[in-house]
Amino acid sequence: MVTVTYDIITVGGGIAGSSLAKAMAEQGAKVLVLERDSVFRDRVRGEAIMPWGTAEAKELGIYDCIMASGGRDLPWWDGYQGSERTSHRDLTATTTPKEAVTAFYHPTVQECLMQAAADAGAEIRRGVRVVGVQTDGSPKVVAEVDGCDTEFRARLVVGADGRDTPFRRWAGFDVQRDPGHTLVAGLLLDDVPVADDTSHAWLNPELGLWVLIFPQGGGRVRGYVCYGEAAGFRLTGEEDVPRFIEESIKAGMPESCYANAKPSGPLATFDGAASWVDHPYRNGIALIGAAGGAPDPTWGQGLSLTLRDVRVLRDALLQHNDWEGAGNAYAEERDRYYKVLHDVELWETDLLMETGQKADARRAKAFAAWREDRTRQLDVLLSGPLPAMDENTKRRFFGEE
Ligand SMILES: Cc1cc2nc3c(=O)[nH]c(=O)nc-3n(C[C@H](O)[C@H](O)[C@H](O)COP(=O)(O)OP(=O)(O)OC[C@H]3O[C@@H](n4cnc5c(N)ncnc54)[C@H](O)[C@@H]3O)c2cc1C
Repeated sequence: MVTVTYDIITVGGGIAGSSLAKAMAEQGAKVLVLERDSVFRDRVRGEAIMPWGTAEAKELGIYDCIMASGGRDLPWWDGYQGSERTSHRDLTATTTPKEAVTAFYHPTVQECLMQAAADAGAEIRRGVRVVGVQTDGSPKVVAEVDGCDTEFRARLVVGADGRDTPFRRWAGFDVQRDPGHTLVAGLLLDDVPVADDTSHAWLNPELGLWVLIFPQGGGRVRGYVCYGEAAGFRLTGEEDVPRFIEESIKAGMPESCYANAKPSGPLATFDGAASWVDHPYRNGIALIGAAGGAPDPTWGQGLSLTLRDVRVLRDALLQHNDWEGAGNAYAEERDRYYKVLHDVELWETDLLMETGQKADARRAKAFAAWREDRTRQLDVLLSGPLPAMDENTKRRFFGEE
């Protein structure tokens, strides 16, 4: 068996793996990306980076790459409750980072970032599936290359293989998971006549429905329907497209939006329950992106979180000669911002996705308090994690003090 040694190996060449490979290869590190897929396809993933993630993309120097592969700025955020438009917000003026949502088609951006990593000097191996990892001494991954198990060693191995993959367990991390609550269905559609500089969000708390549309230009949009697990169905495959449209209209979306819509990708539904690892570094192995923590897709935070992970890990590796120290510094910082995001997501889910009289009363109380003082509402999901939060932040959010 041949063993080749690198500074960094990323297991997975998605947005997390390729962005880190690019960032570190640019700094002279010898980087290898091991990516299972030879061709990227629509896996129904995130295609809208929230404003705080747009700022991270710019900081990492990948924003131009996203734009060059068909990305677009969505400076406006229109919110609706049922059929009533409740907000028309200029994100570039009103969020802390003063940035827009960045919308794009995921497979094209994956391709572009992988090329950018290669251009920066990273070695890319595609069609290579990692099948094991060892953490004694310098970390080592085993991958299937042309039907043979091949070992690769590195000073640092970075798990960037997405949600629900076995790598993090092989590496000895305990995976935490929230109880299930929401499901998220996603579909790419053509011929949808909505303003294409705007993210459109229909919230119908009485039905526990939350529908989002992120335009990609030329009438193409990525649509999501978020709904309670208790509904007892999962929208999957061509035969469920009419139901996807029906649920969107039930949330309050005008019928005209989807009157001529044609699906142009698969329809799939995912569990909303977040899964994550506390302190995502040990023994020469770091986890980033969805492998480190996959938030509830309902709230659209995964890509921003991924880009923050990449930036924080990059900076730690550049600041510390001792990469054990760098890995631990990254993991401590990651725990902090992940907790803020996770807490806010759980509060939003409690407040906005629960149905029934008790939930209606709770919402009425919170919304009244928000109208009096907008800072109670928190803008974490668009503006990014606050440095710290406490019980008082939570009580203020729910209008309980
Ligand atoms: C339905 C849904 C909607 C979402 N909506 C949003 C949104 O609106 N906004 C947002 O910010 N986020 C959203 N997200 C989250 C977002 O998609 C993820 O945060 C993001 O894709 C994470 O990127 P990643 O590179 O960590 O993982 P992935 O995108 O999953 O990439 C992992 C890569 O690793 C490769 N891989 C896996 N196993 C192996 C192996 N054994 N060997 C080698 N390679 C391997 C895979 O082929 C893949 O290329 C959504 C997620 C879902 C499921």
